[in-house]
Amino acid sequence: WSAETIAVVTGGNRGIGFEISRQLAAHGLTVILTSRDSNVGLEAAKVLQEGGLNVTFHQLDILDPLSIQNFADWLHQNYGGLDILVNNAGVNFNIGSENSVEQARMVVGTNYFGTKNVIEAMIPLMKPSAVGARIVNVSTRLGRLNGRRNRIADVTLREQLGNVDSLSEELIDRTISRFLQQVEEGTWESGGWPQSFTDYSISKLAVNAYTRLMARILSERPEGRKIYINCYCPGWVKTAMTGYAGNIPVEEGADTGVWLALLPDQAITGKFFAERREVSF
Ligand code: NDP
Repeated sequence: WSAETIAVVTGGNRGIGFEISRQLAAHGLTVILTSRDSNVGLEAAKVLQEGGLNVTFHQLDILDPLSIQNFADWLHQNYGGLDILVNNAGVNFNIGSENSVEQARMVVGTNYFGTKNVIEAMIPLMKPSAVGARIVNVSTRLGRLNGRRNRIADVTLREQLGNVDSLSEELIDRTISRFLQQVEEGTWESGGWPQSFTDYSISKLAVNAYTRLMARILSERPEGRKIYINCYCPGWVKTAMTGYAGNIPVEEGADTGVWLALLPDQAITGKFFAERREVSF
């Protein structure tokens, strides 16, 4: 890895994204720290630059297609593309609140659709490389399909979402639509959805399924143009999202993401990790 290696991090202005940016830059990479708010993003990048790190800021709101397009154009013109994409930006309002329609839409809109839109815009810009380009999605164990607790009750849907060969974007999107419709109708509680952190869990379940789907699709790319995509759970981290109540510091929360981004063994793709170990979806 060198300053020629370009890593893009979404939601890099604070929390786990800021720490991932710091750690990647400390490995000698050029990091493009993005944030939806230019002022806080510039400030965050400045902190890292003052620490001697090679970090540049650019605005990116993953909910805004125009912002994604502007960022893609800028990246192409200024860096010719990227080698590593870390999809860290996300929201969670579930602590102490209900699944309101607005909230559920915002959570799945950001965590799943926003992430998906960024991935779609970045794939054509991912540079050819012998070790393979990398995409890392920051997810959570709450989005596990077959976890012992907090899982979807519908066995058929679980099987469909769990079968990587038949998995499709249409199925993932349809699952999300069904969930949102039930939130809208006020019937989600009897709908067999995860009972805690519901919209957040569903949004990350979709991210996990999309990770597996994309790994399958991207595996068909020729040698030299490979892209490896994985997701991971950072643990319960002391950030704004947990009200700083998590049990691990951001350094640890960022660790597996950075490890996946820089993994020398390029053949790993479509997997879910926690604490640098593979866990089941
Ligand atoms: P923070 O709330 O500290 O950071 C979230 C980041 O995402 C912020 O930079 C925020 O920007 C950004 N963001 C939100 N919406 C958008 C958007 N539309 N466009 C661009 N950026 C956006 O939380 P964490 O650092 O804890 O979370 C980082 C990731 O880790 C998330 O994906 C989260 O789901 C995941 N995660 C966190 C866990 C934890 O325990 N903390 C556990 C499991 C997963 P802004 O500052 O403008 O709001």
